[in-house]
Amino acid sequence: MSDTLVHSADALRITEIFYSLQGEARTVGLPTVFVRLTGCPLRCTYCDTAYAFSGGELRSFEDILATVANYRPRYVTLTGGEPLAQPGCLRLLTQLCDAGYEVSLETGGALSVAGVDPRVVKVVDLKTPASGELARNDYANMALLGPADQVKFVICNRQDYDWARLMLDQYDLAQRVSDVLFSPSHGQLEGRTLAEWILQDNLPVRLQLQLHKLLWNDAPGH
Ligand code: SF4
Repeated sequence: MSDTLVHSADALRITEIFYSLQGEARTVGLPTVFVRLTGCPLRCTYCDTAYAFSGGELRSFEDILATVANYRPRYVTLTGGEPLAQPGCLRLLTQLCDAGYEVSLETGGALSVAGVDPRVVKVVDLKTPASGELARNDYANMALLGPADQVKFVICNRQDYDWARLMLDQYDLAQRVSDVLFSPSHGQLEGRTLAEWILQDNLPVRLQLQLHKLLWNDAPGH
């Protein structure tokens, strides 16, 4: 598909579509098609997908849906970049649900999830102090999350951990969503250290080690 599509309403800018094992969240380890949308308004210090900030290819909804269908998946995840930065993402989410897939959306937490189809599982990243993007969090999203949704914290250090604990209490997250995910920032915090903090505090959260990094060292396409 070329870049000749004129109207963004007809297309989305896509960095890659690939089939892999889900590396995070509640469906970790399950075969999933990933649709990685191009562009993100944030610049987190630890970002591992900077290659999705620009470039990509305009692809029609029809082309995207056909590419996904080729893999005959059960699970489809929209990721980025920041998928919600392209308004047409909402329509694609609905069309994927209509096609019968179990659909999830990975979002950085700065943009509203208000328009997301209720059938979609939302995985909302709350940006910690060490991300450098704390001020961009849209906390109104917390009230829009339901029992199938998930909240993720990428934790770089003890200050981030203490802040995440505060958020856990302030928004009653363990009661509100299906899973609260604490993920150590790769190369900054040992998973074992985070595990010990969680156990010491008996937190109702799930420690998450990113499977795709363990298996494929975070190469694009996985
Ligand atoms: S929100 Fe995600 S894609 Fe955007 S800069 Fe942060 S880590 Fe990278």
